Amino acid sequence: MQIQENISLLPHNTFLMDVSARYWAEYGSVEELRDLLRRFADMPNLFIGQGSNLLFTKDYDGIILHSAMARARAVKETRDEVHIEAQSGLVLDQLIEQLCDMNLYGLENLSHIPGETGAAAVQNVGAYGVEAKDAISEVQALDTTTLQPCTLTNAACRFGYRDSVFKHEATGRYVITSVTFRLSKKPVYHLDYGNLRDALPATPSPTDIRNAVIRIRQSKLPEVSQTGSAGSFFKNPVVAEETADKLLSKHPAMPYYKQTDGIKIPAAWLIEQAGCKGMKSGDAEVYEHQPLVIVNRGNATPEDVMTLAQSIQEKVKEFSGIELQREVIYI
Ligand SMILES: Cc1cc2nc3c(=O)[nH]c(=O)nc-3n(C[C@H](O)[C@H](O)[C@H](O)COP(=O)(O)OP(=O)(O)OC[C@H]3O[C@@H](n4cnc5c(N)ncnc54)[C@H](O)[C@@H]3O)c2cc1C
Repeated sequence: MQIQENISLLPHNTFLMDVSARYWAEYGSVEELRDLLRRFADMPNLFIGQGSNLLFTKDYDGIILHSAMARARAVKETRDEVHIEAQSGLVLDQLIEQLCDMNLYGLENLSHIPGETGAAAVQNVGAYGVEAKDAISEVQALDTTTLQPCTLTNAACRFGYRDSVFKHEATGRYVITSVTFRLSKKPVYHLDYGNLRDALPATPSPTDIRNAVIRIRQSKLPEVSQTGSAGSFFKNPVVAEETADKLLSKHPAMPYYKQTDGIKIPAAWLIEQAGCKGMKSGDAEVYEHQPLVIVNRGNATPEDVMTLAQSIQEKVKEFSGIELQREVIYI
């Protein structure tokens, strides 16, 4: 177990916000996590992965807890499937690379998404027509109210679009310790999203799909190692049919996707049409290749990012009447 005091969070958030935390602790086992929760019971705590979906808005006056548990193992195998339990601190993309090497299908479309396995369940990460929930069979956690381990089934996690029970009534209650994924030995393809199929042979392996996804992502999204950002800043809004119809009558070229609960409109399209391309506030800027992303050009402060995000929300509201919801979590 490692505990540090008054540390800079610069290496712990992909937006590269230069703020600090009163305490930072890393635990290598559930026992250590339990000890930390007992010892620091009287102060605010935050469970963190790679900090790739967060905006630290100020110094954190509490303890930040990071999982150093990063192993994966097969826990069940049938004729068609393998169930892999991956610990929360394992980098998701490393897990996906291993699964592709094992020729297992299920997570390859999520290649190159930053972050760790625990957070992938919190966020129900998604890309190229696949969400983590499609492969998650259950989530193992420590219940911070009882300090006892527990298991949540896929249904109990109540996954939604970038959403789960861990972001609502269970916020802060469960620390995810591992996630069990159900992977297929036989090809199960999701290639109809974007231009993914065009980049692939007729019967691609998981590694072929992974490589194609990585190539496409690299052409559109900032590289975490080079540019500060937290990926998509806003969620794609899902609106009532009447709202979409009104917008379509004014903008017949508007892209939209029918969902069970309404019509999904790409937030990037709304942001671009609202005239936000090229907008900046201090060193925070709308990313030139993907207007859904706000980037840190070097010395952006939390205020720069928040001001820019608010201006985008106001302009989109003015243009369409739609209120964009943040995907990035403010801490
Ligand atoms: C360049 C870029 C591209 C991106 N592309 C995508 C994309 O295509 N699709 C997508 O869905 N997302 C994308 N993201 C967002 C981000 O990668 C995901 O949300 C990711 O799951 C965050 O993982 P993390 O480990 O960094 O979590 P963090 O940002 O550290 O935490 C996210 C949330 O999870 C909680 N949390 C973390 N670990 C635990 C735990 N063990 N137990 C309980 N709660 C925990 C945190 O408290 C926080 O609420 C992108 C981000 C970047 C920077």
